Amino acid sequence: MWRIEWRSVKFLAVPCVALLLWGCGGAPSFVAKNEPWRNDEESACMASNTIRYSPFIRTHAALGGPSVCGTAKPFEMAAAMNGRVVLKPAALLRCPMIPQVERWVKQVVEPAARYHYGSMLVEMSIAGSYNCRPMNHVSGARLSEHGYANALDVSGFTMSNGHRVTLKRGWNGSAQDQAFLRDVHQGSCRFFTTVLSPNYDRAHHDHFHLDLARHGSGGLKRICK
Ligand SMILES: [Zn+2]
Repeated sequence: MWRIEWRSVKFLAVPCVALLLWGCGGAPSFVAKNEPWRNDEESACMASNTIRYSPFIRTHAALGGPSVCGTAKPFEMAAAMNGRVVLKPAALLRCPMIPQVERWVKQVVEPAARYHYGSMLVEMSIAGSYNCRPMNHVSGARLSEHGYANALDVSGFTMSNGHRVTLKRGWNGSAQDQAFLRDVHQGSCRFFTTVLSPNYDRAHHDHFHLDLARHGSGGLKRICK
């Protein structure tokens, strides 16, 4: 059963056809609210010239087409810190996520790599970015922040000395890996409004979920689990 609430009537006619086709193909349904802050936030970000374009941060064709999924001005982020830290594979993200991921890598992950391993961070394994799907892939749930290109899933980190730590093995792994991942987890909550770790539930046993959703009536509540 489709229970889509459209952002505006202009989405009403065409998307129903497209989404019903998805349903025939077995794709799970989702519920989407009317949330004007998303467009406002993206427009403000674009107008602020906060994005530093480079071979590693490039514009991408609009995502989502006529459905509520996607974003008008997406970016493909292939690396942070001007190419020093590769995102593998490259992530598709909306404008506000780009500077936050940059700050998070520079101020949290890279210092934690140096502190715990005496080594530079060179690569992050990206388990997900844009994906038009319900939360936790549960049919009938709210549209995930991934559906708005407003979320990033990170499953592992590689250092310049060759050491690789994954959430799957490292979260309960060696003392060194545990300490690094917990520092990254704690620091992530300064930069993202939602941070979900293996502490949260089974679905997050192998990655950090980071997003910029608005929580609570004032939109200022943060979720750090
Ligand atoms: Zn996620």
